[in-house]
Amino acid sequence: MRGRKLIAGNWKCNGTIPETERLLRSLLDSRWDTAKAEVVVCPPFTSLQFAVNLLKGSKMAVGAQNMTEHENGAYTGEISADMLLTVGVTHVILGHSERRQYHRESDRTVNAKVRTALRKGLIPIVCVGEELEQRQGGGTKQVIGTQVDTGLLEVEPDALKRLVIAYEPVWAIGTGKTATPEMAQEVHAFIRERMTALCGQTVACEVPILYGGSVKPDNAAELLAEPDIDGALVGGASLKAADFLAIINAA
Ligand code: PEP
Repeated sequence: MRGRKLIAGNWKCNGTIPETERLLRSLLDSRWDTAKAEVVVCPPFTSLQFAVNLLKGSKMAVGAQNMTEHENGAYTGEISADMLLTVGVTHVILGHSERRQYHRESDRTVNAKVRTALRKGLIPIVCVGEELEQRQGGGTKQVIGTQVDTGLLEVEPDALKRLVIAYEPVWAIGTGKTATPEMAQEVHAFIRERMTALCGQTVACEVPILYGGSVKPDNAAELLAEPDIDGALVGGASLKAADFLAIINAA
């Protein structure tokens, strides 16, 4: 079990600059034990520079919610790793189920993005998760195994220790339905096994595996108490400073 939990807030398509300022100032005014919780906020692209400037020297890091796998060029509307790095972003969420669902991102695309992010020095938060029918059909481990193996294809074992994985069952995202701690732990242990096969036990134990899917102040502590749950990727509840803070403190 890792000593420090990683709590990341995925703001999704929420947060104008004034809203970003309000939320971040509330968090800056709050206290938590940095030996127990590492915090990353992931506002939309338009707020990244503002967030990085405001949080400079604070205990919070800033992540983006997506990036292109391409270096640069004719990819209208895309944002590259170098662009994120010049802003001062350290993390990037990749393969979120909403990107997979609404923007048809495949495991191969996620893999290309992961490799670019690692090569450039960003920390990818790689999301995996099964849909409800897949769980009901008994296919959870097969889906997650494929997403992990393909998503991390051709990543050097040494680079694997610089990434974060987020297990987010699709049926739990934004629905108010959370996996029970036992259900989540079972999949996290499975991901850990898969990582062990890819990079050995020492590195696999260092890779933070976050749980995401309707994490709230009232369920965070029991989820975070599981041995293979190293933190949380929080959507809706990260938009309310008091709720996000309560989740951080649950760590
Ligand atoms: C997410 O979007 O990554 C997420 C987990 O959302 P929510 O916490 O709202 O379910």
